[in-house]
Amino acid sequence: MKIAVCVKQVPDTADIKWTENNTIQREGLESIINPFDMYALETALKLKDREQNVNITTLTMGPPQAEEIIRKAISLGIDDGFVVTDKKFAGADTAATGRTLAAAIKEKIKEVDLILCGQFATDGDTAQTGPAISVNLNYPVITYVKEILSVENNIATVKKEVEDGTEILKVKLPAVLCMLKCDYEPRRPLIKGFKNAQKAEIKFYGLNDIGLEVEQVGIKGSPTYVSKAFRPEQKQGGEIFVPDNADDAVNKILEALNG
Ligand code: FAD
Repeated sequence: MKIAVCVKQVPDTADIKWTENNTIQREGLESIINPFDMYALETALKLKDREQNVNITTLTMGPPQAEEIIRKAISLGIDDGFVVTDKKFAGADTAATGRTLAAAIKEKIKEVDLILCGQFATDGDTAQTGPAISVNLNYPVITYVKEILSVENNIATVKKEVEDGTEILKVKLPAVLCMLKCDYEPRRPLIKGFKNAQKAEIKFYGLNDIGLEVEQVGIKGSPTYVSKAFRPEQKQGGEIFVPDNADDAVNKILEALNG
């Protein structure tokens, strides 16, 4: 089974700042693997622990320095990885990012069975990239995944979080799964892992390697225009009513609204 895990380098802070052009201010910030992607990596590694012939490749689209997170993933036990990088990819919105990652997976991994993403990136936070990859490859996608319960006969059975509980879904592979924080913690690297990461050959692929045109990537391939970025006002804690029945609930809410 071939698994691709998409990882994004994000600033190690919740205090995101914006540039004049409404892009994220990254200078001067330490970078880490997006925390949800750590769960995607761990989920892939758990499959490798329990199934035979599992090969995991991790990839990121970003500047050449994003090589650092690919090495970190390899130190955890991921088999190999590459960086999708080119000045022409700069300014990509989620549509262009999804298209670029999908093309890189198609060209460079080939016949992938499972693509794992994080549910959200802690900086951009749109949750659109995984679904965008699935659309470009014409694969099914399941979001809000908490766990892969099994993979048998080309069908993955997964646990998905919904508002009032969980759903168990089956999906035919190849498919894209977007991982939430799981009930298990991502593993830490061992010394052997650090050594493997140090000597791993990380490949770098640009526009010419992934079969797309310049109009399809980066700012040229991005229909989104960010007119304004701002931090929403912190809301004060609300009032909780504990009604006896529906009529009581309505009356209590009306009383509160009328002051
Ligand atoms: P989400 O969709 O929330 O991420 C979900 C998951 O998708 C992640 O957990 C990860 O598994 C995967 N994923 C997301 N991004 C990547 C990636 N790059 N590589 C591998 N896996 C990934 N960002 C810049 O850094 N520089 C820019 O110049 C820039 N310009 C932009 C211009 C516009 C008009 C817009 C709208 C956005 C721009 N961005 C830029 C932000 C960039 O488009 C997003 O960071 C990117 O598309 C991913 O979206 P997200 O952060 O919301 O990730």
